[in-house]
Formats: sequence, C-alpha cells, structure tokens
Amino acid sequence: MCIDLVLHKSLSINDLGRAARRKQLTINNLQLSFIKSIFFLALLAIVCDSIGMIKTTLLTAGNAKITKGEAFGYITKGIHLAPANLSGYEVCRWRSKGCTMACLNTAGRGQMDSVQTSRINKTKLFFEERFDFLAKLSKEITSSIKSATKKGMQAVFRPNLTSDIAWESIINEDGVTIFEKHSSTQFYDYTKSFKRMKAFLDGELPSNYHLTFSCSETNSKVAKLVLELGGNVAVVFRDQLPSTWNGFDVINGDESDLRFLDKQGVVVGLIEKGLAKKDETGFVQEGINS
Ligand code: SF4
Repeated sequence: MCIDLVLHKSLSINDLGRAARRKQLTINNLQLSFIKSIFFLALLAIVCDSIGMIKTTLLTAGNAKITKGEAFGYITKGIHLAPANLSGYEVCRWRSKGCTMACLNTAGRGQMDSVQTSRINKTKLFFEERFDFLAKLSKEITSSIKSATKKGMQAVFRPNLTSDIAWESIINEDGVTIFEKHSSTQFYDYTKSFKRMKAFLDGELPSNYHLTFSCSETNSKVAKLVLELGGNVAVVFRDQLPSTWNGFDVINGDESDLRFLDKQGVVVGLIEKGLAKKDETGFVQEGINS
C-alpha cells in the first residue's frame, strides 16, 4: 500500500513535469508561428508590390496605321504615355497648342477611361520608378523580339507614341540607354525638338534610333530648315496630300509608320485624323502644292 502511494506520487510529479514542458513547448511554438506570420506578411507585401509593377505592360501594339507595317515584315511596339502634362508630368516639351488639341492620344482605344488611366500610371512610373520602368521595358523589348522572330518578322520600337522624351538621355541603372542595351534593334520616333533632330542629322544619336521632325503651326520655319539639312518632316494636311510642300517632295506617310525606311529630305504627308479635323490653329496645312 505504502509502495503504491509512493509510486503514484512519483508518477504525478513526472506527469506535472511533462505537462510543464509541453506548455513551454506550446508557448515556444506559438511565438515561432507568430514570427513566421509576420515574416510571411512582410514578404507578401514585397511580392505584391513588385507584382503590381510587373502587371503593367509598358509596350503596346499602337494604332491601325502602325500595324500596317506587318505587311512589310515589321511589328512595331511602342510606349503610350499620357501626353502633354496630363499625368502631372510634362512629356512633350516642344508641343504646340494645335498638336496638343489634335493629339492622337484619344484615338481608337484611347477613348476608354481605363486606357487613359493606364497611360497616366505608366507615365508616373516612368518618372517615379525610373530604373524599374527601364528594367521592365528591356524585358518586354527582348520578349517582343523573340515573339516577332518566331513569326518570321522583325520587331521595331517607337518609345514616343504619345510623348516627345529625349530617350537618348535616359539611362538605366547600368548607365546605358535602351538603344545601347538593344544595339541591334531598330527604334524610331517623331520629334518637335530641333536640337534632337539636328543631333540625329549630325550622327550624334545612336545609329539604331531614327527621327522624323514633326511640323506644327509654330515651327514651320524650323521644319524647312530641317528639310534643307537633309532631314524628313512630317506634316498633317487637310483632305489630300499635295505632291510638294515648300519645294520638297511629299510622300504618303499613311501607308505605314515605318519612318526609318523613308528616303531622306522628304515631307512625310499625313491626312488629318480625329480631333485634327476640327483644327483652327494652323496645325493642319492645306493640301495644296507649294
Ligand atoms: S507633341 Fe505629340 S504626343 Fe505631345 S501633345 Fe503634341 S502631338 Fe501629342
């Protein structure tokens, strides 16, 4: 009887010890789970943040005229930023009142609110997360080249579909431009900057970046100078294309958007579209020979 009691007491003390250890283990496990949860949530926040940027597609296929290039074996992709200062950031330093009103930003898919919001967000990302923007852009360029190659086509790029940014001055975190990063890829744009156009004509821009000067109601004298220097000038005409403008041949710029294939020293004639039909600033030129 006495032995039983001693044994019983001894077992109880052991049981209490085990229970205390189990309790301690449970507390430790709870603390560990709590730390794991905090770590997981922090990681999730970082991943979600980066996924948010990755989800934004920077390159788009552009408008109907741009897709005409496919008949010639080229797929053009470009960046639609929010033009002028719609995003709070100015992306068209050399714009005129007429071009701002006639801008193709609201043509086609641009009429949709979601598209406008996306362009504004993209523009903010360009200014506020520059290196991330350029890293993402570079990935998309590489992937577009691969996809075009599979179709037996060549991918070419227009960084300024609805902007006039001096991309030759925009460097990534390795200190190189998109033209240097993708040195065997063709890029092209229109610009209203004489400085940029002159640099192009003087061979100071990367050899894989082609520029066409864009005429407005405020820069026609400069446009003539560009033509005299051997550059090309895009001019918007009303109703019909003349065969000459200020003594220079006019080619039909609406046949495709592949400006880097144009011969030099010509006027790239474009017929007014969208809001340009209502232009009264002089941005749209009369389609008569001059
Ligand atoms: S410069 Fe070009 S993109 Fe900018 S507002 Fe004028 S037409 Fe639009």
